[in-house]
Amino acid sequence: VLAVSLQGMRFDEKPVLGHIDLRLNSGETVALTGPSGVGKTTLMRIIAGLEDRFEGHVRRPDRIAMVFQEPTLMPWRTVADNLRIPLKLSSQAIDIALEEVGLEGRGSAFPNQLSLGQQRRLSLARAFAGDPDLLLLDEPFVSLDAELADEMMTLFETLRAKRNVATLLVTHAKSEAERLATRSLHLSGQPATLKPAS
Ligand code: ATP
Repeated sequence: VLAVSLQGMRFDEKPVLGHIDLRLNSGETVALTGPSGVGKTTLMRIIAGLEDRFEGHVRRPDRIAMVFQEPTLMPWRTVADNLRIPLKLSSQAIDIALEEVGLEGRGSAFPNQLSLGQQRRLSLARAFAGDPDLLLLDEPFVSLDAELADEMMTLFETLRAKRNVATLLVTHAKSEAERLATRSLHLSGQPATLKPAS
C-alpha cells in the first residue's frame, strides 16, 4: 500500500533525511524507532503528504489516518461531532465507533469531560472509523501510565484485527515494537537512513 523512495530531505541547508526506501504491505505493522530529533516525525509527515520539501517519490493510498502523541480533538465540538465532521459518518457508524472504544452513550459529551485515556481512545477510534488503508501512529502510547498504555495497545490490537490496515508506528519503547510490530526499522545518522532494527 505504501512505497517511499526518498533521495533526501533538508530543512533550509540542513540535511535531515538521506536515501530512504520503505515499503509497507496491507495488514502489517512496522515499528519505526530512532533517537530524538533524527527525523521520524518528518518522515511521517512526508508519507502523510503534509510535506513537499523533499526529493523523491511517495506512492500512498487515498485513505490515510494519522494519530499524534497528543489527542487532536476539537474541544468546542461534542464527541459525536469529532467523528461526524472530519469523517462524515452516519449516526449509526458513530455509535459503533464509540462502542468499540467503550464510549457508548458519551456522544454528546465534550472532549474535556472525558478522561485523558478516553480522549486518546477516541482519537484512535476516529483514526480507525475512516477505514484507512494506511495508519500513521506517532508515539500514541507515550506518557501514559503502564495500565493505560496497555489498555490502548489492546484496543489497537482489537481494532486492527478487524481490518486489513497497514500501520507505521513511531515508538521509543522496544517493548511496544516487540508486542505490536511484525518488523522494526531504525532511523539513524545524519542525514538519517533506515536499517532493520537489531
Ligand atoms: P522526536 O523523537 O524528538 O519527536 P523526530 O525524530 O520525530 O524527533 P523530527 O521532528 O522529524 O525528529 O525533526 C528532525 C529534525 O528536523 C530536527 O533536527 C528538527 O529540529 C528539524 N525540523 C523539524 N521540523 C522543522 C521545520 N519545520 N523547520 C526546520 N527544521 C525542522
